[in-house]
Amino acid sequence: MLSRTVRISARQWQQCRYSSTVALNECLSAIDAYNSEINAFTSINDRALLHKKALESDARQTNGTLKSELDGTTIAIKDNFCTTFLPTTCASIMLKDFTSPYDATVVKLLDDAGALIMGKTNMDEFGMGSANIHSVFGPVINPCSHGDEIKRSAGGSSGGSAASVAMNMCTAALGSDTGGSVRMPASYCGLVGFKPSYGRCSRHGLVAYANSLDTVGILTRNVQDCSKGNLDIISNYDIQDPTSIPNELRTELDANDTQLSLQFQDDLKGLVVGVPQEFYVDSLSDEVLDVWRKGIQHLESLGAKIISVSIPHVSLALPAYYIIALAEASSNLARYDGIRYGHRSPDNEDHLLYEETRSSGFGDEVKKRILLGTHVLTAGTYETLFLPAQSARRLIQKEFNGVFKQPNLLYNENTQEGERERAHILLVPSATSEAPTLNNKKSGIDEYINDVMTLPANLAGIPAITVPFRNTPNPIGLQLMGQYGYDQFLLRVADIMTSKKSPI
Ligand code: GLN
Repeated sequence: MLSRTVRISARQWQQCRYSSTVALNECLSAIDAYNSEINAFTSINDRALLHKKALESDARQTNGTLKSELDGTTIAIKDNFCTTFLPTTCASIMLKDFTSPYDATVVKLLDDAGALIMGKTNMDEFGMGSANIHSVFGPVINPCSHGDEIKRSAGGSSGGSAASVAMNMCTAALGSDTGGSVRMPASYCGLVGFKPSYGRCSRHGLVAYANSLDTVGILTRNVQDCSKGNLDIISNYDIQDPTSIPNELRTELDANDTQLSLQFQDDLKGLVVGVPQEFYVDSLSDEVLDVWRKGIQHLESLGAKIISVSIPHVSLALPAYYIIALAEASSNLARYDGIRYGHRSPDNEDHLLYEETRSSGFGDEVKKRILLGTHVLTAGTYETLFLPAQSARRLIQKEFNGVFKQPNLLYNENTQEGERERAHILLVPSATSEAPTLNNKKSGIDEYINDVMTLPANLAGIPAITVPFRNTPNPIGLQLMGQYGYDQFLLRVADIMTSKKSPI
């Protein structure tokens, strides 16, 4: 059994002046004991360097010169964020030996804040998957099934990030969320998983899967670690990311966000929570339905008013996502040609190099998606698939705007017509079931269907968070979604919701 000390949160750690060196040693012991079984990390940072940084942080603690709330805490980074000090593999043969000449902006911000970067974490190849079974390093085992005969998936694609936090190998981890890759593994592993509003955290140095959907995300054991510790530090305008929210809009969004957050301190009196009817899909398991029902009752017991809302075109989210994401992926992954960087096939005949490099460098799931993505962009299907998918996305965005009380500052449209009541926040499940077992391989389509709860938030660009709601026998999370820009408010509600709840 791991010692209890490493389970304390970053904030508690700062408050009780817990030694960074002791915390580091606890995390390294957990890595030594369990990583070969759980398969969470693809590489570990230099231990001597980590010890040196921990000592420096302890000295700052003593002198009262801590750089930030995160100074001295241990963080893991998904292996699709560029780092100069460790390879960035995206769990692919294509990038197996690739080390970036620069650090991703968010990695640099964490390092500057004094965080100890423990290593890079396992994932589905290029972020494509929901169960972390498409990795050149092999699957990630869910820590909740550690020791059991039947192993469960840690979820994907940020499975290694989730498993590393759940197994106490670090305090927090960065993941990326294009269609649910932070929230799904967090839900399966009993963690908090937060996908901020699109553009809030810089994606400079995050290897692109689908640019219009990709978001940096955070996985922690509790909501406070996620907000105070991490989001505050990595949420900055970055000139190197053209989709980064500009400072002027950021200031406006933050003012509204703070104003609303301040209205909720200890309970949720005055909060209106919307339950979108279209999320009641056939594939929801009985356990998830039960947890969702209990979540609604719990919010009611904290003073929230529950209303039913409707987002009719959310039923198109799944096909729209898999058309848009794969189209963008096919274009992004075209850069891996064996010429500029990454894997190169030994066959150097000009006309074969490209084909051989891509055939041997990408795994089957990635190749399938490149082919599908290329197909939807070809003449004919572009009009019949790609353009309708974009229209469906726009409708879904509009309908989300129509159910929130707060307007979306990105759109100059009146979404407040009609008499119906609107919500501050929405509550839905995070996944259709608890973590699947690893021996029960789902077909491609079944794996895609699993994302139905998470990807609407990516299509709409809105913030969403999963919080652990049921712990045993296997974790099940619930998901809150907020209006674009209301990230702190979402975290505030999630914090009140989780801190006032006894485990089920
Ligand atoms: N499961 C989804 C996909 O495979 C989402 C992945 C992600 O968010 N990176 O596309």
